[in-house]
Amino acid sequence: MPLQISPLRKPFYVQWLWLGLILITLGIVIVFNLYVEHERAAIREHNRLLVQARVIAENTEYQLKSANLALENVRDNLAHWRDGAELQRVMRHLKAASIIPGIRTMNIVDKEGTITASTRAELIGMNIGSRDYFQAVKRHPSADMLYVSPPFETIHGFYVINIIRMIADEQGEFNGMVSATLDPEYFKTLMMSVLYASNMWVALAHSDGLVFLIMPERENMQGMSLRHPDSFFTQHQSSGEREKIFTGIVYATKEHGMAALRTIYPTDLKMDKSLLITVNRDFDSIFEPWRQNVLIQGILFGIIVLTSTIGLFFYQKRQRKFEKEERKIRALVNQFSLALDRIPTYIFMKDQQRRYIYGNRSTLELFKCSAEELTGSSDARFFPPETVARLQESDTRVLIHGEDTAEKVICKSQDGGPRIYWEIKTPIYENNMPTNICGLCGISMDITELELLKEKLEQQARQDYLTGLFNRRFFMEQGHAELIRAQRYHHPLSLLMLDIDNFKKINDKHGHQSGDTVLKRLADVMRKVLRTVDIIGRMGGEEFAILMPETDLKRAAEVAERLREEVACSEVTLETGMALYFKVSIGVASIKDKDTDLNALLNQADKALYQAKESGRNRVCIA
Ligand code: GH3
Ligand code: MG
Ligand code: MG
Repeated sequence: MPLQISPLRKPFYVQWLWLGLILITLGIVIVFNLYVEHERAAIREHNRLLVQARVIAENTEYQLKSANLALENVRDNLAHWRDGAELQRVMRHLKAASIIPGIRTMNIVDKEGTITASTRAELIGMNIGSRDYFQAVKRHPSADMLYVSPPFETIHGFYVINIIRMIADEQGEFNGMVSATLDPEYFKTLMMSVLYASNMWVALAHSDGLVFLIMPERENMQGMSLRHPDSFFTQHQSSGEREKIFTGIVYATKEHGMAALRTIYPTDLKMDKSLLITVNRDFDSIFEPWRQNVLIQGILFGIIVLTSTIGLFFYQKRQRKFEKEERKIRALVNQFSLALDRIPTYIFMKDQQRRYIYGNRSTLELFKCSAEELTGSSDARFFPPETVARLQESDTRVLIHGEDTAEKVICKSQDGGPRIYWEIKTPIYENNMPTNICGLCGISMDITELELLKEKLEQQARQDYLTGLFNRRFFMEQGHAELIRAQRYHHPLSLLMLDIDNFKKINDKHGHQSGDTVLKRLADVMRKVLRTVDIIGRMGGEEFAILMPETDLKRAAEVAERLREEVACSEVTLETGMALYFKVSIGVASIKDKDTDLNALLNQADKALYQAKESGRNRVCIA
């Protein structure tokens, strides 16, 4: 029966497949997560840029509305001032109207283009008739239109935007204009306030495409035109939307960026041109934290791939080593198992619940079952109840008390006959730790024949082959023990010495075989007359000794006399059919004091026997 060993684990490539699958899945999860993060960062930035653009746009719209009101107020009071107001008072009115923080200068211009009144005295009398913004109003006069000029450079070297309301005469014709210059400093401060990162810039442009302001200031960008098919400006205008997000190469800077564009056009104003705010951020800086995240996750993923690959490699290397060892052990165990099968002895193993877990071939043949049937079976399946109880008792000693047992076990075999086994059992410990009792290993040999032979030999060793009585050596052994016992308890003990009279003549006359028959007959007579407790021994030839426990000299003499008589009248029928009679002489002795030993007692009885012979034979003499 081969020993059961757990099967080998799955092949190595399956482990690699699993690892690959896990790593790919992890990689996909990381990439997906990074993609989502990227999208979130983009949306977050969109929203922030749009909010910042809205802040400037709404503020500028508020400025435009306020400036428009101031312009309307000046224009509506103009007729009243013309009717004789001094210039000084007009100037004060203008100054009061231009108190709005976003307005730098307010001018009143007549229909020829001459500045007639101004918040800046140095401008009065100056003619701006040739300026584009004057011409634009003059060419398309409209009393309710707020004109927004493209940015232009002032005589002081500033880039400014003028917002203008036309002055109409009684017929509604063009009769000059009231203009306000938007204060670049105010808008610079406003624009700077929305920058939340170092790599940002914000620009305010006219709908004709010219850049009015850019913050932080950049060279060559003020006054440049954004009107280009590639510019976000053009794309935003053609989309017709109020606000829009763009990502790509910024036309003005040629840098990669993200931009929020919003048209500034207050809904309740009628403006000939609008303004446009653009809030830009460098694209790379937006995703800098995200890129760092990509790098960290990439490195972590790389470390995971590397360590898991190396880990699996070394794990498999170790597994291979174990497997090699296991194969060796397997081969050894199989060899061992085959060897155990060839041994004509019952070898078995039981678990803690006394169930068989192994049996060699001899065991299986004894139980007449297969290895599979044996595994898990208990002794109850193979032996009668009284034998099971006996086996369980010794199993308990091994399994519970950790004893090694070596004993003779008599079992009833399956065919009912008693069989004698020599059984050795020893506990098996898990990991060789005497505290962990996980089962037992047993070897059992059928010694029935051996025992019978031994018994026969022992019997032969103490028996006289002819008469079946004890031989001299065994008689002496038994006699000695009996003598000691009698002396210890002060009990009487007597000895008879018996010798056949003229036995030589019987032999000579009838042959040796007839002599043997006489000897056997005498033995039968002795067995019949004497008690079973009496010890009868053939001391040699035709001489016998009888030890009689609990018998004093008088009683022994009586028994001796009865024996002599019985012998004398017992007939021996020879092979020839002839009847033969024989006689015996007997010497009787008893122990007197405790110094008497068996040899001394034998000597005394022998002397008495000699007397019996001397005084005519066929008689009993007492020592
Ligand atoms: P006594 O009356 O003085 O005892 O005379 P005896 O002839 O019996 O004595 P002796 O010692 O001279 O003879 C004993 C004989 O017993 C001698 C021997 O051949 C014979 N003998 C001893 N053992 C056996 C035996 O086993 N079988 C037979 N048939 N004869 C035996
Ligand atoms: Mg004799
Ligand atoms: Mg003799």
